[in-house]
Amino acid sequence: MRTVIFSAKPYDRTFLDAANGGRHHFTYLETRLERESAPLAAGHDAVCVFVNDAVDAETVTTLAKGGTKLIALRCAGYNNVDLKAAGEHGLTVARVPAYSPHAVAEHTVALMLSLNRKIHRAYARVREGNFALEGLLGFDMHGRTAGVIGTGKIGERVAAILTGFGCRVLAHDPFENPAVTALGARYVGLPDLFAESDVVTLHCPLTEATHHLVDGEALAGMKDGVMLINTSRGALVDTPAVIDALKSGKVGYLGLDVYEEEGPLFFEDRSARLIQDDVFSRLLTFPNVVITGHQAFFTREALRNIAETTIQNITAFETGQGTLHAVTL
Ligand code: NAD
Repeated sequence: MRTVIFSAKPYDRTFLDAANGGRHHFTYLETRLERESAPLAAGHDAVCVFVNDAVDAETVTTLAKGGTKLIALRCAGYNNVDLKAAGEHGLTVARVPAYSPHAVAEHTVALMLSLNRKIHRAYARVREGNFALEGLLGFDMHGRTAGVIGTGKIGERVAAILTGFGCRVLAHDPFENPAVTALGARYVGLPDLFAESDVVTLHCPLTEATHHLVDGEALAGMKDGVMLINTSRGALVDTPAVIDALKSGKVGYLGLDVYEEEGPLFFEDRSARLIQDDVFSRLLTFPNVVITGHQAFFTREALRNIAETTIQNITAFETGQGTLHAVTL
């Protein structure tokens, strides 16, 4: 199938070409898919998009007019696609439901340990010849309570790793996962999870129900000095409310791999330009905040699985054979 790959990076090309083996015709574009760039897809049967491509109703209409029939997401989340509009125009939407929960879970725990043991600060100090330990005091993860919100594939792995550390794990999810209960975790309501957890980590999808799940009220119900980690989707967290909580000391540690307004920032080298987003810039001023630029998924294993499932989706759509991981409303 003639497929245009938006937001294509050299690593996408490497893994997609290897998985494709020349079967489908790929056009690689560095630009994001959005209203202005949607006409570039004309004449292609499929578009292949990533997390920050904006596939809203107007974009879907342009794609449909240009002859596109399939939107193949090379990610698990699909909050950036207007599924209603896609359905109305007869476009199929497919995604990669699982590629490496380990990648995201392990990065989540890397953020926790970096923040706790202040690795980001120690790294800079030692390179400056400063071997003083003041300001680097951490705590044992063993015996601490961790609250995992969303216990699907990634949340389950995070719960397993934290159980291995000797943490007491509390969980919250509308659907209990028996594998998480088997680890010894206990499902509780959100208020109890917030009240009892030393570490709160987010692993639920972004939906209307979870938008700003962590807002001022939720933060007020958390322990003083809580560690908050978000490797899921930026808009789960009300960032100005978290900045207030950092200033008051309510939040003692913040680890982010995602940010509500990450679209214009992430996945590009902007080091020679000024950051215009004042909220993001404020976050960067706190010594107890570690931010990575949506890299939790970024392992060799995950990229290989993403590429293979994407090719599988395109082939299944074209031939009607094999598994198509379709997304419906
Ligand atoms: P999953 O579908 O396996 O699990 C999501 C879980 O969240 C489900 O168990 C679901 O019942 C639960 N959930 C839904 N609504 C909830 C609510 N209101 N409160 C609590 N739990 C709720 O998904 P997954 O593979 O574990 O991925 C989780 C999220 O991680 C994705 O939606 C995506 O946004 C994010 N993600 C981020 C990266 C990254 O690189 N940072 C990579 C992959 C996925």
